[in-house]
Amino acid sequence: MTAPTLILPERSRAVAADLRAKLGSDRVKDDRPTLTAYAVDASIYRMEPKAVVLAESEEDIATTIRYAAANGIPLTPRAAGTNLTGSAIGSGIILDVSRLNRILEVNHEERWARVQPGIVLAELNKQLARDGLLFGPDPSSGEMCKLGGMLANNSSGPHTLRYGAVKDNVLSLRTCLVSGTWLDAQSYGVNDPAFERVLTAIPVLREIFVLVQAHADMIRAKKPTVSKNSCGYNLFGLADGLAGGLFDLPKLFVGSEGTLGVVSEATVKLVDKPKATLTALIHFRHLQEVGEAVPRLLELEPSALEIMDANTLDLIGRATHGVPADAAATLLIELDADSIDVDLRERAERMAAVCRPFKLASELTLAFDVDRREQLWKARKALYPTLYRYDPRKKPINFVDDVVVRAERISELIHYLETFFKGQRVPVAIFGHIGNGNAHIVPLLDVNDHSDFNKMVQGYHEIHSAVLDRFGGSICGEHGDGRIRAEYVRKMFGEDLYGLFVQVKQAFDPGNILNPGIKISDRPFTDHIDYTRLSKSCATCAKCNAVCPVYDVFQSEDMSSRGWFEIVTANDYSYLNSKRVVEACLNCKSCRTVCPAGVDVSDLILKKRAEHPNRLAGWIFRFQARGARFDALLRWLGNTQSLWDRPFVRRLIEWVTKPIMRRLAPTARLPHELALPRFAATQLRERHADLIPAESDAPSSKDIAYFHGCAANYLDDGVGDAVIGVLRKHGVEPALPPQRCSGTPIQTYGHMELVREGARFNLNSLARYNTVVTGCASCTLMLKDYPALFADGEERRQAEDLAKKVVHITEFVARAPQNPPMAQSAGGTKRVTYHSSCHLRAAGVTKEPRKLLASLPGVNFTEMTDADRCAGGAGTFIVKDYDTSQRIFARKTRAIEQAGADVVATSCPACMIRLKNGLPERVEVKHVAQMLHEAYEAGEKS
Ligand SMILES: Cc1cc2nc3c(=O)[nH]c(=O)nc-3n(C[C@H](O)[C@H](O)[C@H](O)COP(=O)(O)OP(=O)(O)OC[C@H]3O[C@@H](n4cnc5c(N)ncnc54)[C@H](O)[C@@H]3O)c2cc1C
Ligand code: SF4
Ligand code: SF4
Repeated sequence: MTAPTLILPERSRAVAADLRAKLGSDRVKDDRPTLTAYAVDASIYRMEPKAVVLAESEEDIATTIRYAAANGIPLTPRAAGTNLTGSAIGSGIILDVSRLNRILEVNHEERWARVQPGIVLAELNKQLARDGLLFGPDPSSGEMCKLGGMLANNSSGPHTLRYGAVKDNVLSLRTCLVSGTWLDAQSYGVNDPAFERVLTAIPVLREIFVLVQAHADMIRAKKPTVSKNSCGYNLFGLADGLAGGLFDLPKLFVGSEGTLGVVSEATVKLVDKPKATLTALIHFRHLQEVGEAVPRLLELEPSALEIMDANTLDLIGRATHGVPADAAATLLIELDADSIDVDLRERAERMAAVCRPFKLASELTLAFDVDRREQLWKARKALYPTLYRYDPRKKPINFVDDVVVRAERISELIHYLETFFKGQRVPVAIFGHIGNGNAHIVPLLDVNDHSDFNKMVQGYHEIHSAVLDRFGGSICGEHGDGRIRAEYVRKMFGEDLYGLFVQVKQAFDPGNILNPGIKISDRPFTDHIDYTRLSKSCATCAKCNAVCPVYDVFQSEDMSSRGWFEIVTANDYSYLNSKRVVEACLNCKSCRTVCPAGVDVSDLILKKRAEHPNRLAGWIFRFQARGARFDALLRWLGNTQSLWDRPFVRRLIEWVTKPIMRRLAPTARLPHELALPRFAATQLRERHADLIPAESDAPSSKDIAYFHGCAANYLDDGVGDAVIGVLRKHGVEPALPPQRCSGTPIQTYGHMELVREGARFNLNSLARYNTVVTGCASCTLMLKDYPALFADGEERRQAEDLAKKVVHITEFVARAPQNPPMAQSAGGTKRVTYHSSCHLRAAGVTKEPRKLLASLPGVNFTEMTDADRCAGGAGTFIVKDYDTSQRIFARKTRAIEQAGADVVATSCPACMIRLKNGLPERVEVKHVAQMLHEAYEAGEKS
């Protein structure tokens, strides 16, 4: 069981080819970038596979398993790759189930759902929430992890206290065994004729049945006495079931980490979503008092009870999270109301009474509304990747990350751990689910340093031994054994029970094909550590994948933000072999907005593109920078649009321009079906020539500039006039100083020198103004990002100066001391939703547009799901890869339809083009400035 199956080199080359012949080329990949991207998960390990299968059906799963078994090739199932133990990487075939991501059936009365393994937990719960339902287990990685991984790891999370772990919430699992046979793993009554039939059909089950029956007493005697355990195979669940006359098969497969079979479908239990929730922070001055407080707080029946120790609070920054300097530990507690009759304020008072005898560092922080509650959870949920920011060399290393003791001994455990790491002089973060006694321990180490490496090995053995011998706990509560804890499973359970685990594995998988090296293995935990990656800035947590529009569409790690980080930072990176993926990023910046470790993947990609700038794009942007002739060309396009913007002519244009567009990208074209915006025959700067300052003008009332950018000037989309109109209603006569493209589109085609040239022009032109108002999301972000273009010096200082002065029009209005009168514009009350442009989110402007829209008379503002997801426009991406843009947009269309919106408002002219293409005609698309302007106009008239 210890050695992974050997693949001979000549076979390994044929693996992908064989699989392609069986499954089709779109489902099998083995190119360099793909193998690099799939070599990591969120653990400390690295292992490069031979091929990746992107399963789209049960038949794909069965075929791949049969092929792997017949040829002795290791097979590793994989979902989101967020496990912390190295269990979703392998040396053979990676079977990615991400494309199997549908909810197949929901039974509201009986509260269960049939779900595929590739669905993201947050997505599942978002869809269930519409019916007031919830799948209870909630790992902190819920925004990115998928059901398949949760099932295989027996995941749980802060709310395990109330809902249990995954093993408590599964009714049945459709599982493909290594023979390629399908098993409906459900709980069978041992006297049920159906049970006998399944034992006959699948003989391995009879072996397991007999084995557990024979050893039931020993299994029960060895059952961990703590409230959570994901170590070893859950034979305890099977033995407990047998005592009640049941052969509870889901208990065996949940937590088996893909070593016994591959799940294609799960029937999971659902619960009612709480009607209201209170989240509170309690800051304790003394750690030992936490131990005393926990049993009393548990009497309040909280749904979650989490701890962060003093070191953790220091490491994530107390000031940033409002944690008092003298807090020795902070508890995060949550209380649910199951009916509207429950008074959460009264329960908050009871909580305050429980805390009164203890020395608190400050008053309790209470949060009842969703936004505030989410804020309190934010730091806790992203703790581990956030620690990546702490030190460029010392990284949070997961190797003793998931121990469990009895809840009342958690303070003692924390005290022991803090003393241990103090002795080692190693900074450590200790946090976790204190209500269950489950502590996550994350020391910060430089594993490339010999001394730190030895400390890791010492800590691994000493702490795990102490947890077992001194605390009588478990080495694994919820993260799984994977490669990290495999060598300790034997120590945890002893030879006899471990021997049963080996028999179970051999019975199901005699050839050791399914995820070898995981759970049942004697390989030391230090094998396959990725020393190179652990010196990089990315935590491989996959939070960025969850928001990456490209990953959303392709569900393949080589087409994802995390995958791209791996690809472009690999030692053997070359643009030529990675062009396909490097050119696929939209530069939407969603990854940068969410990354807890402060990584900007899009920036890394742009730097790689800058090494190979696109020649055609360079020619176009240089022509644009020359000004007058380019303006004249667009004016001419505006004057003649009625002639050339007709279906037949557009088809012709698409055909004629095809070879030229290909020089932009192999996928680029000018699709005849793309509804183009109207080009302005008289451009914004001509319409408002009076606002263009003369060279000699001294800044006066015109000390507010409007940076309109390209779209508002060249297009007849109403945005520029609306922004100017709104500013005028606020008593501002803005100046329209000379300006060049802010640089976003130029940057995406790799022309950094041209971007700098434009930036210098804009810096000089805008220097004299106190405020620079923008209407375009991308211009806003780019102007704020100008400092990154220049090395330290005068230009950098100038750029920093400008960055402080830039405000989007929605910020300008939201900050105004007073608003002009508003009234409902014509057409009756409208249901309005907001599409939050990615670049404006990246610039930190999210609340203002929503607040303004909600304040407009005659507007019924509705937040849509996925408002914060990219719509697929991204400047010129819509022509660079129209088909992918359409696929990205499909999700936005669904969200807008579900919101039942009459109007979609946004803050970016480029997003407007994307939105106008593809939405039904009854849905209007408007810039927030247009809506404001209409309300001001109506207010003036009324
Ligand atoms: C920041 C962060 C926070 C986390 N917080 C928590 C937490 O609070 N609680 C917690 O429990 N975990 C937590 N985790 C760990 C991890 O997110 C969970 O274990 C998660 O459920 C794994 O899901 P995944 O989709 O990423 O699975 P993967 O990593 O892809 O796979 C995990 C295991 O599942 C197997 N697998 C995947 N799909 C299948 C299938 N269809 N059939 C059979 N086997 C399959 C794989 O082979 C592997 O063994 C955290 C991780 C991170 C990065
Ligand atoms: S880039 Fe950031 S969000 Fe993405 S995987 Fe790395 S650390 Fe996580
Ligand atoms: S910029 Fe957007 S498309 Fe590119 S990696 Fe980040 S999230 Fe994905």
